[in-house]
Amino acid sequence: MQLQFLGTGAGMPSKERNVTSIALKLLDEIGSIWLFDCGEGTQHQILRTAIRPRRIDKIFITHVHGDHIFGLPGFLSSRSFLGGESPLTIYGPAHVRSFIETALQMSNTHLTYPIHFIDVQEGIVYEDAHFVVHAKKLQHVIECFGYRIEQKDLPGQLLVDKAQALGVPRGPLYKELKLGHNVTLEDGTIVKANDVLSAPKPGFTVTILGDTKYCDASIILAKEADLVVHEATFDASTTNLAASYGHATNVEAATVAKKAKAKNLIMTHISARFLKQDVEKLVNEAQTVFPNTFVADDFALFEFKNGQLVKD
Ligand code: ZN
Repeated sequence: MQLQFLGTGAGMPSKERNVTSIALKLLDEIGSIWLFDCGEGTQHQILRTAIRPRRIDKIFITHVHGDHIFGLPGFLSSRSFLGGESPLTIYGPAHVRSFIETALQMSNTHLTYPIHFIDVQEGIVYEDAHFVVHAKKLQHVIECFGYRIEQKDLPGQLLVDKAQALGVPRGPLYKELKLGHNVTLEDGTIVKANDVLSAPKPGFTVTILGDTKYCDASIILAKEADLVVHEATFDASTTNLAASYGHATNVEAATVAKKAKAKNLIMTHISARFLKQDVEKLVNEAQTVFPNTFVADDFALFEFKNGQLVKD
């Protein structure tokens, strides 16, 4: 799992930061990339990364403010030009569908692949054998969702000694057992996967929150997550102002991570008002509340190495 920030600015692009988009790279896990929000210019940002648009098969939209969705028509159209034929699913508030359909229809754009739209409601929005994604409403000036992506536990390692002792021959049955499937030997003996695998390895949890003021829903979504992405549009000196605009401060983001007992926090949605030295201050202030705080810059790539979150 890698998390790459394609845009980290609030409201409008600046020379330093494009508007919001985050790529959750699950290439090692399932060969896919999931995009969270798609602000204007996201496709230009993608050109400067190793991301291939056709690998993106899910897009989760937090809310329909322009700085989170204006990049969709362009991205969808280029994905088609690049030969993308695999279906794409877009999760988000209901208006996302009419926005995209109108933009494509009015520009006479025909895509080479189907789009499935899912109107997000609170609860589980997606589940397969490997992942489950939960959504919950945050508190912004319009309907806005946060997403919690949980990887399911991974099967343990095959204990070859035990498998051999139970008479499992080397070969395809090992593969089945590794996948957690029970197998039947030639003599009819059933060997249970649980008896020859080490304990399952817990999967990771990443919480990606949309725009929001400080709220309990963020804490619930972030509960014990390995990584929380929270906006920090304002700093602690403007807490009241932040709430009145439906946004949060750096210290509030850190408080959410702390109360949720999360392991790491990445702050994003940084206002262009903050210069380089101010951004350092944003991090330092947040770290007084929650030490494992990072700030995202455009193109920053985060991943876990030996259990530690590192910024490449
Ligand atoms: Zn917004």
